[in-house]
Amino acid sequence: MPLFLKQKVMAFELIKLPYAAEALEPAISAQTIGFHYGKHLQTYVNNLNNLIPGTKFENANLETIVKESDGGIFNNAGQILNHNLYFTQFSPNGGGTPSGKLAAAIDATWGSFADFQTAFETAGTGLFGSGWVWLAAGKDGKLSISKESNAGNPLTQGLTPLLTFDVWEHAYYLDYQNRRADHLKALWKIVDWKIVETRY
Ligand code: MN
Repeated sequence: MPLFLKQKVMAFELIKLPYAAEALEPAISAQTIGFHYGKHLQTYVNNLNNLIPGTKFENANLETIVKESDGGIFNNAGQILNHNLYFTQFSPNGGGTPSGKLAAAIDATWGSFADFQTAFETAGTGLFGSGWVWLAAGKDGKLSISKESNAGNPLTQGLTPLLTFDVWEHAYYLDYQNRRADHLKALWKIVDWKIVETRY
């Protein structure tokens, strides 16, 4: 049997966006979606598909790869997972505040939703270089904010990622240039808390 017949076709695919490219303006412009989703994320997908054949990750899912890999495979798998969580947490009808047990946990941890937002923004603006700011939950439901450099994800510390803001310059530079803090503030208007709540 020719070898190619036995090779499993295993390819990660670019996620579909649940909104139009211009739907998140002005927090995220159609031009930024074009580069960030259409070019950067597509490149991570292509890179991972080129890197995993012949490795132990050939049949692994993204979460497993992120938890168990390092080097180039981790960087590209992490960036795919992070961007999938990021792009699917937004909606043109987003904004407002969380509800239910997530809202209660935020209030219990930071005192109020406004205080949580301030802490999250401070973490995002204080992250030096490229990375991600996360709201994550422990197995006991305990919430925490963390800063992760480059492709980092709180999954690798056994936490469940709930919400993330991308602070790589490619996420905001076309729209906000050096004004990272202004961009992070604008993102609250498009966060779909119903989606975030399903992750908790
Ligand atoms: Mn990004």
